[in-house]
Amino acid sequence: MAITHNLGFPRIGAQRELKFALERYWRGECSRDELQAVGSTLRQRHWQQQADLDWLPVGDFSFYDQVLDMSFTLGHLPQRVQGYQGDVLDNYFRVARGRSVHTDHAVQHGEQAGAHCAGCHGVAAGEMTKWFDTNYHYIVPEFTADSRFKLDASRLLTQIAEARQVNGGRLSTQIKPVIIGPLTYLAIGKAKDGSDKLALLPQLVNVYAELLAALAAAGIDWVQMDEPILVTDLDGRWQQGFEQAYQQLADSRVRLLLTTYFGPLQDNLSLLARLPVAGVHLDAVNARDEIAPLLAQLPADRVLSLGVINGRNIWKSDLCALLEWLTPLAAQLGDRLWLAPSCSLLHVPVDLESEQQLDREIRNWLAFARQKLDELTLLARALNDGRASVAEALTANAAALASRRQSTRVHKPAVQAELATLSPALGQRQSPYAVRAAKQALRLDLPLYPTTTIGSFPQTAQIRAARNDYRAGRLDAAGYQAAMQAEIARSVREQEALGLDVLVHGEAERNDMVEYFGEQLDGYVFSQFGWVQSYGSRCVKPPILFGDIQRPQPMTVSWTRYAQSLTNKPMKGMLTGPVTILNWSFVRDDQPRAVSCQQLALAIRQEVQDLERAGVSIIQIDEAALREGLPLRRAQWDEYLAWAIDCYRISANGVDDETQIHTHMCYSEFNDIIAAIAQMDADVITIETSRSDMELLDAFDDFNYPNEIGPGVYDIHSPNIPTEAHMVQLMQKAAERIPPQRLWVNPDCGLKTRQWAEVLPALRNMVAAARTLRAST
Ligand code: GLN
Ligand code: ZN
Repeated sequence: MAITHNLGFPRIGAQRELKFALERYWRGECSRDELQAVGSTLRQRHWQQQADLDWLPVGDFSFYDQVLDMSFTLGHLPQRVQGYQGDVLDNYFRVARGRSVHTDHAVQHGEQAGAHCAGCHGVAAGEMTKWFDTNYHYIVPEFTADSRFKLDASRLLTQIAEARQVNGGRLSTQIKPVIIGPLTYLAIGKAKDGSDKLALLPQLVNVYAELLAALAAAGIDWVQMDEPILVTDLDGRWQQGFEQAYQQLADSRVRLLLTTYFGPLQDNLSLLARLPVAGVHLDAVNARDEIAPLLAQLPADRVLSLGVINGRNIWKSDLCALLEWLTPLAAQLGDRLWLAPSCSLLHVPVDLESEQQLDREIRNWLAFARQKLDELTLLARALNDGRASVAEALTANAAALASRRQSTRVHKPAVQAELATLSPALGQRQSPYAVRAAKQALRLDLPLYPTTTIGSFPQTAQIRAARNDYRAGRLDAAGYQAAMQAEIARSVREQEALGLDVLVHGEAERNDMVEYFGEQLDGYVFSQFGWVQSYGSRCVKPPILFGDIQRPQPMTVSWTRYAQSLTNKPMKGMLTGPVTILNWSFVRDDQPRAVSCQQLALAIRQEVQDLERAGVSIIQIDEAALREGLPLRRAQWDEYLAWAIDCYRISANGVDDETQIHTHMCYSEFNDIIAAIAQMDADVITIETSRSDMELLDAFDDFNYPNEIGPGVYDIHSPNIPTEAHMVQLMQKAAERIPPQRLWVNPDCGLKTRQWAEVLPALRNMVAAARTLRAST
């Protein structure tokens, strides 16, 4: 009997209920109890929806982030929030966001933040970084040599008790708590004092042992221990750490299912096979080749869980093909075979059933979280009860796959022909940077330390309402255009009043930096509710790239032209780069990513050239997601970077010397990709630096990075208003590394998630900081 289970379910809710509840709570518009009730409702619903599985994940729900949850479970909080007297949940939000509640309320009323409630006391928000190669961001655990851990199992125990009550306790499926394993927890954290994180392992594992004992005492049999770090390059010390830790946990009374996902194990395979755990999970989508070697080494009493349904994309699985190779395995392994999605379903939308407007033909090729679990149970039934028991569903699946393979909407000869003409020479600027810089300086006439922003201004309730009205047909195209132009005019007015040097139109007309472009490109479709959590309450709705890409007409030119007509200052044209569009889309699984990316590069190149022809002097091409596309294994980096950078260059560099090209990247690790970044040859790169205290500029300094840089001076993820003095100080640190002539002053990223009441004082301080810097140079 093949056993079915799930590694984790999306927590945000099919209608993003959690997002809205969190944001209400943070605005002080709902009570903690109400927020807790929404959490509880979602958990119950999700467990009910997974009731056909043999084992349910519990503890995968989170009010912000599962890594932060683990930090709380381990009693491992940053120094700055220790000893907080208020509520635990509020302290949790303080680590996540720098604040807990009432922030916006305080801002709107011009109150001194913190004057009226404990939760308002601002602290530095925890650093966020991407979870492996996904677009999910976690709060980085902060270690020092004297980090201590102290078990708080309350969240897990409460949720276990809650899961047992689902359907009045009549649910036949069993409960499997999900936790992050000790090695992964250590590996993805940061040693703030540069100390050796592994030195903390023994005492950390002690707390894990206590946790497992508490779970055993609560009647738990299996615990899912996530150790995705096993699919990355680990040195001998970390491998040893695994042996040590799991040896120490071997006599716990629960059975451990050690889960790995997002890739193959490679040189960690033997290590995983010999760890003393009751079962292991392998990502059989990305590492199918490793099933045989793993089985050959795995002791005969171990469960092998295979992640056979892709938890990272939205395509229907080929069930017949899966059955083909699973059938002999099922016969061989019997009860030892567990089946699951490849990873947590956190990375896919909840339910395709909600999509009533999606093109019917294409919809029939897709599966979201619930449908993926249906596929899983179907597979298990076919294996356990024979294919005949699910014959109809299998036929329907095969028909859907055939329709996709043969569709002329997917395969377009014209695009194929154009791709054949593609050459890297298309990515070469006319002159080297120094020559271009001189010409651009003449054309643009900017001061030292020029100020700019990254593109977006607040997406206000009015903007969203106008867009909803437009989509629902309550507002016509002219009315929508007028509403967006009014927003653009407002942001231009505000920027002029602030005294910024290079303006942006504010991206009011863009729901999202990728979706906006996808909507205008042939080869894409859109879901209505296909939201995926990015961080905290923030979700993205990745467009679905299903076919060969074509740009029927200009996508941004008229908005940019309108914005430029309102000001004499330079107005940046604002585009999303091909690599980012690719990495933030659900992409085709029927051709290499590089090929999809080249198609996107050609479309963006056409747009860049149209903007240039329209007289736009600065064009920014955001590659916010370039880094996260890096393969988890170093050995594959060069190959990825080669095609990714080529695609960016093709899109950006087909312009005259006088046109200034900017790129933007919102992350803070450049050390290992600085050479590739330099190859992009953007005239200006703006990056996220504020939380790293400018340390990351060392990478640019050491490399002698030749072009201009705008290191972000304030953290746009936090509602805290940065002071002028702080930003001056950061820029001074920047100027120790990069000559001031090549520095720009800007926030870390776009401002769309903030409110005007936060943005205006922050930017006022930023402009003042730039003036102070100029005066002192
Ligand atoms: N131009 C985009 C914005 O300002 C960039 C966003 C991003 O890098 N994530 O919103
Ligand atoms: Zn950014």
